[in-house]
Amino acid sequence: MLLNSFCRHGSLLILALTLTALLFTPLQAQEQPAQDTVVPMTLVLDATDLPRQLIVARWEMDVTPGNLVLRYPEWVQGTHAPTRQMQNVAGFEISDMKGNHIYWVRHTIDRQYFNIDVPEGVDRIQFTVRYITSQPNVNSRGVDCFGTPNLGIINWNCIVLYPAVPSANVDVTASLILPDHWKQASAMRVAKQDGNRIDYEKVDLDTLVDRPVILGEHLKSVDLKVEDAPPHRLHLLSDIETSLRLDDDLKEKLVKVVTETADYLGGYPYDSYDFLVVVSDNTPRTGLEHTDSSLSVTQEKSLVDEKVRKRDFDYLIPHEFAHAWCGKYRRPAGMIVPDMNTPMQTELLWVYEGLTQFLSWTIPIRAGLQTQEEFLELFAFTIERLRNQQGRHWRPLEDTAAASSFLRGGSRHWGYLRRNQDYYQEGALMWLEADVIIRSATMGQKSLTDFTRSFFARRKDEEPARGPRVVGFNFDQIVDELNGVYEWDWADFLITRTREAQSHLPVEFLTKAGYKLVFSPKPTEFLKDIERTWGRPGWVDLADSIGFSVNDDGDVFGVVPGRPGERSGLYDRSKILAVNGRKFSRNRILDAVEQSVLKHSIELLVQEGELFRNLEIKYSDGLRYLRLERDETHPDWIAQLMKPLGDKDKKPSKSEEDKEAGKEGEKPESK
Ligand SMILES: [Zn+2]
Repeated sequence: MLLNSFCRHGSLLILALTLTALLFTPLQAQEQPAQDTVVPMTLVLDATDLPRQLIVARWEMDVTPGNLVLRYPEWVQGTHAPTRQMQNVAGFEISDMKGNHIYWVRHTIDRQYFNIDVPEGVDRIQFTVRYITSQPNVNSRGVDCFGTPNLGIINWNCIVLYPAVPSANVDVTASLILPDHWKQASAMRVAKQDGNRIDYEKVDLDTLVDRPVILGEHLKSVDLKVEDAPPHRLHLLSDIETSLRLDDDLKEKLVKVVTETADYLGGYPYDSYDFLVVVSDNTPRTGLEHTDSSLSVTQEKSLVDEKVRKRDFDYLIPHEFAHAWCGKYRRPAGMIVPDMNTPMQTELLWVYEGLTQFLSWTIPIRAGLQTQEEFLELFAFTIERLRNQQGRHWRPLEDTAAASSFLRGGSRHWGYLRRNQDYYQEGALMWLEADVIIRSATMGQKSLTDFTRSFFARRKDEEPARGPRVVGFNFDQIVDELNGVYEWDWADFLITRTREAQSHLPVEFLTKAGYKLVFSPKPTEFLKDIERTWGRPGWVDLADSIGFSVNDDGDVFGVVPGRPGERSGLYDRSKILAVNGRKFSRNRILDAVEQSVLKHSIELLVQEGELFRNLEIKYSDGLRYLRLERDETHPDWIAQLMKPLGDKDKKPSKSEEDKEAGKEGEKPESK
């Protein structure tokens, strides 16, 4: 299909014929570059309007006359779902190098694909992509672009259109034009800076998309000096300068995050690493892992208020960092795809995210950011949520991973029936159980550390020739590696935990770990803090007493099926107006639950739309909050797990360890 006159001077008839032909030409039938061809492209991203939430990319590439397909990325690594960002594109125009316009037509089935008829005589084209930033959807948040008057985040995938070859086979020479007085930080290497224009060293397209940029007026970069390690840099960005205080104590703890993680995971898989940390309340909270950097957006006061820092920063930074090994360097084979338009198979996210979540429980304690007591309170809350989740009766854990693309976000209505992305927290719980199984069976001589050190160590022979370093794995390899540490029926264990529907949360192993679950009439400090700060402040968690949560306006949410509240007829969209005959307040519902020991019921006046009704909750057990209590009859394997690996001076002697762990190894029952 060659219509030379089509672009510049074509008649309406030719235009119509061409568009029709483009529209219905199957992509497979078109001439495409050979798959091993390397396609060079140049890119200038003008971010001078980023404070007004607009960016414009100007691309150039060599072409041959005839059909050309350009694709907009749909599956970006790290999001586990199609990102659907095309809605924010506000301009896509192509021309030859003389400025003559060239038409494109969207493919009607593969809507991220554009068919272009390159006229005879044209051997190079230029095109612009204009993008509206700061309006992410639930799946694009980590890979979207954001701008405020003082700072911005660039994820290159937002403005990419690339030809139909593997994305690692596209070479991009990229430049970025900054707003006046702004600085930038990224894992991208700067070749040259001239005023506001930064020229980066050439990289392949996968690497470009894997290296976001943070930019702004208030940007502070510091080296984290780690002995015998590749360079690590920490870049802190905020709307205001006063939020960028980094004291020596925190810096030292972040160095320990690096050393403890690398020690746990068998060395460094990258040549250098950049932590990109945005502390801002004007940008949505997010975190995304990359091969040699991570992007974390957390609260503005994270560096200046320890309480705020402990809530999010302390877990977020280690989580995204650990992904450099788990998820980036070693990745489920089904999630290694040739380009950004091939769907990923996400069923092994219980390793990718579950094991990373497990690491983000342990590393902050080993690095001194958190205490074990603080972790146990967070852990009790996690178990409370997972125990109440009844979606497990029909949806296996692995299905929460396989269905990840539509389980993020959305309505929480009857969420305890649907089940959410449990592969994070319940995946982590399963890895903790695996650690306890190994420790107790080997009298503490071995642990999951032996697995992680070997599994995540560099495997240079298996790394790809182009693109980011990544080595795939499958279920059987996980089983084999675990058996290499401690021989047991790991396949059966993992299949039962991940592929079978379950009647209850498997937490029996906690006894062996040296802990028991108990109910207390008083909430933990952790719970009190999140009731004050998560979501709409002032909510109250009554999940383990009457079986729901309620905000300070009386709106009910998180109703647990089968618990007294649900049995009385409440559901997630009910609004409580009165408790025991008096106007609803947070304290009145707490008092009513406390008094239930004597009264054996709670009366509610509830509004549902324009209807009002009275409900009676039959309940007598008072306030109940889950806690973990030490069980002295078993060794404390969680304490062992939380000990810093690098803290060799404080490591107990062999005899002390034996004493602490008990003399006999406990052979695990086959689950
Ligand atoms: Zn993650």
